[in-house]
Formats: sequence, C-alpha cells, structure tokens
Amino acid sequence: MSTKYVYLFSEGNKEMRNLLGGKGANLAEMTSVGMPVPQGFTVTTEACTRYYDDGRKIAPEIQDEIFQYMAKIEEITGKKFGDKENPLLVSVRSGSRASMPGMMDTILNLGLNDEVVEGMAAKTGNPRFAYDSYRRFIQMFSDVVMEQPKTEYEKLIDEMKEKRGVSLDTELTAEDLKELVGQFKARYKQNQGVDFPAEPKTQLIEAVRAVFRSWDNPRANTYRRMNEIPYDWGTAVNVQSMVFGNSGNNSGTGVAFTRNPATGEKALFGEYLINAQGEDVVAGIRTPSPISHLEEQMPAVYRQFVEIATKLENHYLDMQDMEFTIEDGKLYMLQTRNGKRTAAAALKVAVDLVDEGMIDEKEAVMRVEPKQLDSLLHPQFDPAALAKAQIIGKGLAASPGAANGQVVFTAEEARAWHDKGQKVILVRLETSPEDIEGMVVAQGILTARGGMTSHAAVVARGMGTCCVSGLGDMVVDYDKKQFSIGDVVKKEGDFISLDGSTGNVYGEAIPTVDASISGDFDRLMTWADNARQLEVYANADNPHDAKQGSDFGSEGIGLCRTEHMFFEPSRIRAMREMIVARDVDARKKALAKILPYQQGDFEGLFEVMGERPVVIRFLDPPLHEFLPTDEGDIKEIAGDLGITPEALHNIIDGLHEFNPMMGHRGVRLTVSYPEIAEMQTTAVIKAALAVHERTGAHIVPQIMIPLVGEVKELKYVKNFVVATADALIKEAGSNMQYEVGTMIEIPRAAIVAGEIAKEADFFSFGTNDLTQMTFGFSRDDAGKFLDYYYENKIYESDPFAHLDQSGVGVLVKMAAEQGRAANPHLHLGICGEHGGDPTSVEFCHSVGLDYVSCSPFRVPIARLAAAQAAIKNPR
Ligand code: ADP
Ligand code: MG
Ligand code: MG
Repeated sequence: MSTKYVYLFSEGNKEMRNLLGGKGANLAEMTSVGMPVPQGFTVTTEACTRYYDDGRKIAPEIQDEIFQYMAKIEEITGKKFGDKENPLLVSVRSGSRASMPGMMDTILNLGLNDEVVEGMAAKTGNPRFAYDSYRRFIQMFSDVVMEQPKTEYEKLIDEMKEKRGVSLDTELTAEDLKELVGQFKARYKQNQGVDFPAEPKTQLIEAVRAVFRSWDNPRANTYRRMNEIPYDWGTAVNVQSMVFGNSGNNSGTGVAFTRNPATGEKALFGEYLINAQGEDVVAGIRTPSPISHLEEQMPAVYRQFVEIATKLENHYLDMQDMEFTIEDGKLYMLQTRNGKRTAAAALKVAVDLVDEGMIDEKEAVMRVEPKQLDSLLHPQFDPAALAKAQIIGKGLAASPGAANGQVVFTAEEARAWHDKGQKVILVRLETSPEDIEGMVVAQGILTARGGMTSHAAVVARGMGTCCVSGLGDMVVDYDKKQFSIGDVVKKEGDFISLDGSTGNVYGEAIPTVDASISGDFDRLMTWADNARQLEVYANADNPHDAKQGSDFGSEGIGLCRTEHMFFEPSRIRAMREMIVARDVDARKKALAKILPYQQGDFEGLFEVMGERPVVIRFLDPPLHEFLPTDEGDIKEIAGDLGITPEALHNIIDGLHEFNPMMGHRGVRLTVSYPEIAEMQTTAVIKAALAVHERTGAHIVPQIMIPLVGEVKELKYVKNFVVATADALIKEAGSNMQYEVGTMIEIPRAAIVAGEIAKEADFFSFGTNDLTQMTFGFSRDDAGKFLDYYYENKIYESDPFAHLDQSGVGVLVKMAAEQGRAANPHLHLGICGEHGGDPTSVEFCHSVGLDYVSCSPFRVPIARLAAAQAAIKNPR
C-alpha cells in the first residue's frame, strides 16, 4: 500500500503528534471529543520530509491526495473551494512535533480572488468584511509564500488610514479596503513580475510548499538549535476551513491559558479582540481586552469557553494554551497545546497539579524543563537598592526576572554589543520573529506595544528572559536611537533595569543578589532527588563557590582547579619564582612558599564540604600562562627574582609553545617536575588532617591527575603522591584514607581505559578536552567556523554545549565499561561543561556514571535532568 500523506481531523488523535505535528494532533483530538473545531485535514510530517528528499518538490501523488481531501472538506462544510456563490476558504497552518510559536508561517482566507470576493460580499451582505479578508490574504500570501517585504503592505495600510483620517484598521470602509486590494495586487505584480494567482488550487499548493519551506527558514533553524529540535522531524501542514472573527462586532478572536503562564496561578488568563482575525491579538496592532470582559460582552460564549477550557485541562492534565474565534456569536476552537510558561509558573503548576490530585510526584518532575530553572537561579535585585531606585515607567509583567543592562534598539546591535561583552536590554516598539537573535542575547526585553501574549512576551517566557511589554507611555525613536517616557529620555548605551515580575522599569542599573531555593521549587526538587540515581556535584575552586553549590544541593565537589588559586597578585610572585627556577632546589624553595596558600585554600573547601567528596585536580595549564607579557612587568619581576630582564625574556621564550593546548601541561608537568605533585599532595593531606583535627570530619580527599594518556605516566606520578601522602599520614599518627584517580580527557586514555583503571580509584571524564581532542578543533576557535556547519546541517548543535553522543559519547561509554571491568571499585563521573546540560546528563545516566559535576548555578538543573533521566529510563 502506498503511504498515506493526508489525514482528516476526524481520523487522527493526540497520540499522533510525530506524524501530524502538535497542532494537527490536537485539532484531531478536540474533534474526537466533540468540540467545535472548523474541519480540515493535516498533510503529514512525512510529506515534508519527502518534499526535502525530492529536492524541494511536492510529489504529484501528494498533490492529488491533497485535492481529494479538499473535496471531502467541501462535502463536510457544504461549501465549494473557488466557488462564487458559496465559497470555501481555508487557512494553511504549519505545525511540527514540538511547538515552535511564531517560527513558521500561516496563511488565512486562502481561496479568494476577484470573483469569489464579490460572491462572499453578496452572500454575507458585508462587503467590508469580504474585502478585509481579501486584503489580509494577499498580504499573508505575498509575505509567506513569495517572501516579499511585509512592511511595504503595512505602509500602504498606514497611508490609507492617514488619507481617511482614521487610526484603526476597523475604521476603514469597504471602499477603502477594496481600493487597498487594488494597490496590493499592483504591488504584488511589481515585486513578482506576474499577477497575483487567482486560481485557488494554485494558491493552495503554493501555500503548502511555503510551509514546508519555512521549516528551513533562518529563524526556525535558530529556534531549533536553541531547543535541540532535530532538523529531520519536518513540519506538518494543516488545511482548515476558515471561521471569521472579522465579520463584525458580534465576532472576534482571542487566546487564553487555563492558568497564568507567568505565575502559574489557577485562573483563566487571556485576551481577545472584537472584529479581528488571526494574529491581530498577538501582533499588538490594537490593544486587546482581558478575557474576563468577554463575560459581560458575550456571556453565553464565555460560559461555553470556560467549560471547554476546563475540559481540555482535565483531558490533557496540564495547563492549556488555546486559540479561539467567535463568528457571529458562535465559538470555535482553533488550537490547544500545553502552554509555555515561566520557570516559576512551571513549578507552581506542577506542584498544584499534584495537590489537586491530577498527577503524581514523578509526573510533576517530568513537567518542568530543567534548562528553564536557570532563570530562577540567577541573581534578583538587591532589595535595598531596589527600594531606592526611581521607577521611570510601568508596563506589563510579561516574563519575570531582574535585568540590568545598556539600552539597544535592534537585534543586530544587541548581538554586536553582547559580543563585545556588554549586557544589553533590547528596546523595541514590538518584537517579531526576525528579532530572535537579539532577544537570545539580551538580559531583558522592553516593548511599547503588545499584551501578555505578544510575540515578545511569549518568546521571552520560553527563553526565561526577563520581559516588560506594552509600556504604552514609551515613545521609541529608532532614528535618534532613544526612547522617552514622559520627561525621561534614554539613549543607546544608557543603563536601565527591568523587573519582569512587576513590569517596573528603572532608569539605572540596579545591583542584584543571589537566588535561593524555597517553596514550590524546594518541594519539586525534593521529588526530583527521590527519583534520581545519579549524584550531582559542583565544580568549585574556592569556598564561596563550594557554598553556592552546596546551597543549590550539590553533594560534593567534582572538580577543584588548583591553578585558579595562583592568579591572585599576592601569590603569582611565588608561582613565577617556581616557574623560572633553574634547578630542583630553587624550585622546591619556591614551592615551599606556595604550600601554605594552597593548604589554606583546601582547608576552606574541606570546611564547607565536611565529609562530602572533594576532587582536587593537580596543576593543569601550560606554565607560560603564569608569566608576564607586559614589558614593565617583566622588568619589575626580573628585579624581584634577582635576574636580568634579558634572562627572564629567555625563560619566557623557552616556555613558548606552538600549540599550548597539546603542550607541556597536565600530568606532563609533574612528570618533568614531580616536586610540584609532592607540594600539592602535601597541601591536600595537611589540609584534610587539620580540618579533621578541628571539626572531627572524616575526610577522604580525592587527588586527580589530569591529561593522562598512558598508565605508566599515571603510575609514575602516583608513586610520588602516595609516598608523600603516606609519610604525612603516618607522621600524624592518623589512619586517614585518600584516593588517587585520573581524568579521562585524551582519546588515548579512553582507548586504554582498562589499563589505566588498574592504577586509578576513579575516572572523571573531562569532556571539554575530550571533545576538542576528538574533533580536533579547539573550543576557542570553533566559533569561527561552526556556524557554517550549522547552516549546512553538518552539525546540529555545538559539541561543547551538548555532548556529541555518537562520537565523544562512544569513547565515554567504552572507557566506563572497560574501566569498571578492570576495577570494580572504580567510580565514574564527569566534570566538563556537559555535566550541567540536560541531554548530556541523560546520557551520563544511561552509560552508568555515578555522578555529574557542573558549575554551582547549574546544580539544580542537573538534579532535575538526572531525575527525569531516571524516570524515563530507570537503571
Ligand atoms: P501559530 O502557530 O503561529 O500560532 P496558527 O497556525 O495557529 O499560527 O495561526 C495563526 C492565527 O490564525 C491564529 O490566531 C489562529 O487562531 C488563526 N487561524 C488559523 N486558522 C484559522 C481558521 N481556520 N479560521 C480562523 N482563524 C484561524
Ligand atoms: Mg504564525
Ligand atoms: Mg497558533
């Protein structure tokens, strides 16, 4: 049997989202439970994949199938596509498996031409409505299908409004709109070189093609990469008979959530516009009314809507985000999906649903996206500074968070300033999907227009970025690069702050303070901890970070980088002395000066961590990183060291390396200078003994040797460590235990892991180095060319952000298995950046690691990701 590429809404259900996309599956589901859904059909994601496989062509048999289904819709609706008396108009809507709001395109009122519009005007007795629909169609078709500039058409509308002396679209008359249609068609022909297509069948196939094509547009690609949505999923296309919210004052259109998507509060939340169509509500063209007004305006419709909303939430057991249209007093449902929400709302909804008996604790843990927690873990405004700050304006609290930064007015500027290391606030009249690149890098987003469901608000909430929208008093002047609120004027580069939880805007940069975990957050994290099987540690080099990690729930320190301790001015001097020492004695003397600093640092860590594991990595970077480069510094330091500047120059030159990343660093340093390992061991052991003495804690320090690729080099260095440690422990009359392990971060180490495991108590996968050495490109240089790889679909995501499971991951898995086989007591962890990335954490769970270690701020994210991995796939 040949593949079926098209399904009626009545043939599908919510389980078919892979094939029908989220929108199609849910339209089918609503149809099957008897809700008022304008009928239509879905062209599957497989048809989209096929379109790309066929070289961006819709195969004739798929076109035929589409027309067959069009005939079925004609039968169901009793209308005819392209008919003058009783025309069927449709919308053509994209819808992929994962919801990608605003990323792809929709066309409404398809099927109109000069004759059909006249028929529609006659049939409805409402020519204004007919021509309003027609001009919208031409606009959307030109934009979406032909990729003509939207602004050209908007400008024609603005000119018409000006000519007529009106300010709202709804004030334009039938005659005005008819004239606009003429202008639009002329503009179309001017841009396209051919007439606007009058044949509805042509319009339809072109629109379907445009939706398929939009899967590959730049903003969709950016969104996919951010959200790890695979390219090969494709999008479905929904063709649905139109209902009209723009047919008069007894009609309208709106969007609503069953709970508040910013706070999670249980109450219907939404907006609608009378006499409007499609995206008017979210586009911020007119200011919509809150959904509660509908109760007065159309009580029966409101009651029916509340009933449907409640039913949908109980059906999906989650907060729903719905689109509806009212045509001449009759309600239609156009979409439902699990609503996007802020992190705070996600936590509240998940916890409330458990309390309401709708879902269990494990399901609640699955409902919160780990990455989202990020927005709650970052600093909030310092209350004292906030109390003193001057409010310059108040908009809608569209997406919570505290942001301060410098004002910029375009997405391009936002990116440019961000790349220079500045924190920016993106200020726009309103945002559109083209602004996505700037929104991603902004600390906060401020718009003059648009409600709680505007593009800016929805996208910001999805990204966890602070947003204040709809600040109507704000006048934005793009040409002068400034905005004003009353008398206050702010120019590009000026500092402002946004409070996304209150909508307040401040005319200064308000300092921020650290976040904490409490309330719903704490309850959900407890459920997550009950479910997870991986342990979660933090990477911390000092007591402050150790404490931060610990406050966020870390169970140990998976990586303490000892070199960071040497960059402080008071210490670098001793370090430099050590580096330039020309014999062992001189080096030992310098090391002796470093020892007390190092011991003090470790004592601080052990004091914070008590008996929890602390993994201390020995000196890793190339030595020349510690040397001065500035001529003045070199003179001064040479003087300090009692050598000539020339001599110091020679030493520095001698330390120069062609490729420091692969040079004299890591274990290679201690193979050349074992006294470094002796000093560091002494510092670790003495610190542990001292803290035990003071607190009674039984500390088992873990010493980690970096960059090992051969068991003999580990063994060689380990002998010095063990000899030093055992002597100190014996001398102290203690029976303290300690461990010596290694990082697996060189591909060779992964290959010979079975050998190395015989000499190691633990492995910690250093996936930053392992990634760069496996790919053969460095993290610092990859930014220059990876964009080309994304554009050409060679790599889908940054391998330094998301562990490359099919390459680097295979090495990790192999090393874990061989290591465990050779040494059953071996414990396994990961300490690269990937330790805090949810999909990478899931991978670590599946290959059986014992723990992940990540930066303190990502500890809660890793805890939740580990819990979700364990629930999905218990081990
Ligand atoms: P998006 O995925 O960007 O929300 P949609 O496909 O949902 O795009 O459509 C955009 C707008 O058009 C929505 O407001 C939707 O409700 C409206 N719309 C889509 N199809 C129809 C239809 N058949 N009748 C009336 N309005 C429609
Ligand atoms: Mg859209
Ligand atoms: Mg929609």
